[in-house]
Amino acid sequence: MCTLLFLVVSKTDTIVALSTPTGRSGIGVIRLSGARSLEITSLLIGEERFAPQANRVTLKNIRDPKTDEILDRALITFFKSPHSFTGEDVVELSCHGSPVLLRQLVDIILSLDARAAGPGDFTLRALSNGRLNLSQAEAVRDLINAQTNAALRQAARQLGGELSARLQPIKDALLDIIVPLESSLEFVEDDLPEIAHEAVKGKLTALRAEIEKLAATFQSGRLLRDGLRITLAGRPNVGKSSVFNELVLADRAIVTDIPGTTRDSLSELINLQGIPVLLTDTAGVRASTDRIETLGVERTRRAMADADLIVLVLDGSQPLTSADKEVMAEVAESPHIIALNKSDLGSFHLKDFESPCDTSPVIAISAKTGAGLDDLRAAILKPFAASGMQTTGLLITDARHFDLLRRAQQAILSSNDLLKQHATEELVLVGLYNALRFLGEITGETTSEDVLSQIFATFCIGK
Ligand code: GDP
Repeated sequence: MCTLLFLVVSKTDTIVALSTPTGRSGIGVIRLSGARSLEITSLLIGEERFAPQANRVTLKNIRDPKTDEILDRALITFFKSPHSFTGEDVVELSCHGSPVLLRQLVDIILSLDARAAGPGDFTLRALSNGRLNLSQAEAVRDLINAQTNAALRQAARQLGGELSARLQPIKDALLDIIVPLESSLEFVEDDLPEIAHEAVKGKLTALRAEIEKLAATFQSGRLLRDGLRITLAGRPNVGKSSVFNELVLADRAIVTDIPGTTRDSLSELINLQGIPVLLTDTAGVRASTDRIETLGVERTRRAMADADLIVLVLDGSQPLTSADKEVMAEVAESPHIIALNKSDLGSFHLKDFESPCDTSPVIAISAKTGAGLDDLRAAILKPFAASGMQTTGLLITDARHFDLLRRAQQAILSSNDLLKQHATEELVLVGLYNALRFLGEITGETTSEDVLSQIFATFCIGK
C-alpha cells in the first residue's frame, strides 16, 4: 500500500454521498463509508444499536432523528469492514428516488457528523485500503463514463486487474536484472562478465519490445475511450442533414448524455466500430434574422474548429458552385475528407469532381439509398487508426498510462545504451530504477500525492 495515501485519506471520518444520479427515479441510493456508518444508521432508524448481518438487506423505516417523523421505508445493506468496496464499514440506503427526500436525508446524515464525500472519495478509500490498485480505480471511473460497448469492455478488463497482471512480469524481469547489477556494484569481485553483459542487453531489448507492444495499443484505446468529434460541413442543400440522419439512425450510441460537451440539437453521439463519435451537423443553424444568422455562422466555425475531422459534403450531381468553393476554402487548412453525395442521381459524376487544391480522400455516397455510407464510416476512422483499429485484447486507454509506458521504455533504452558503452553499473541502474518507478506509477505503488489528487478529481461524487 502507498504510504502517501495516508496523507490523502483521513481515516477517521465517515463519508456520505448520493450514489445514484439526482432526479426522480425508482430508487436512490445513499452510501456511507467509515467507522460511524452503523451508528449513524441506528440514529436514522431509531434503534439503540442496529447490528444487521453483513451483506444482508433489511427493510426499515427511516426517521428524522430530531422529530422522529418517518420519512421513508428503505432497504438497508451493510457491508462489514474489510469486506466492502472501500474496505471500511459501508451502509447503503436504497430509498425511494425522490430528489427532495434524498437531499433531506443526506442533510440529516451530514448533521450527524458525516462528511460530504468528494469526487472519487469512496474509490480513494478502496485504493488506500488495498482493495484495488490505481489502474483498477481508474477503470471504475472509465466504466462509469464508458460511451460504447467496446469502451465498457476495456474498462471491465482493466478493473479485473488485467493491466497490472500484464505489467507484473515486466517489473519482475526488471528486478531480475537489477539484483545482479546491484551485487556487482557492492562486491567488486562480482563484476559482470562479458557474457552476462550480453544477456542483460538482450533481456532489456526484449522488455522494451514488450512495453512497446502494450504502448502501441494506445492509438486504438484512446479512440475507444475518448472518441472523436466529427463535423459535417457544406453549403445548403448538399444533403448534410440527410447524411447526419442516416448515420445517427444506424449508429446511435447507447449514451445520449455526453459529459464535457456543450450539446445542442445538432450533435449526436454515434458508435463507429466501438468508437464514440460526436457527430455535429452544421446545417440548420441558418435562420432568417441577421443576429441569429451571425450566431449560426459562429457556431458552425466553432464546430469546425473543434472537430478532429471535417466531412465536407458536396452535391455530386451538380457542378461546384461558388458557395461550395467558399466552404472548401474554409476547411482547406483543417483535416477533412469529402463526401460526394447524391450518387443515386443520373447526373452524378465522380470524375467531374476536380479540385487541384484539395487532395483529400473523396467518397461517393447517397444519403437517399445508403450507398457508400460504409465507405464513409471507414474513411472517417482511417486517419485515426492508420494501422487498423484494434478493439479486442487489452488496450491502453489512458494517456497517463501511455506516457508512463513511454517513459519506462526511454529509461530502459538509455540503460541499454550505457551498457553498450560499458558505463558503470551505477549509471546503468539509474535508468532501470526509473523504469520500475514509471511502471509502478501506473498501478499506484509509486504515485505522488499530487498525481493522485489530480486523478481522483476526475471521478464523480458518490463513487
Ligand atoms: P442540407 O441543407 O445540406 O442539410 O441538405 P438536406 O439534407 O436538407 O438535403 C437537401 C435536399 O437534398 C433534400 O431534398 C434531400 O431529400 C435531398 N438529398 C439529400 N441527400 C440526397 C441523396 O443522396 N440523393 C438524392 N437524390 N437526394 C438527396
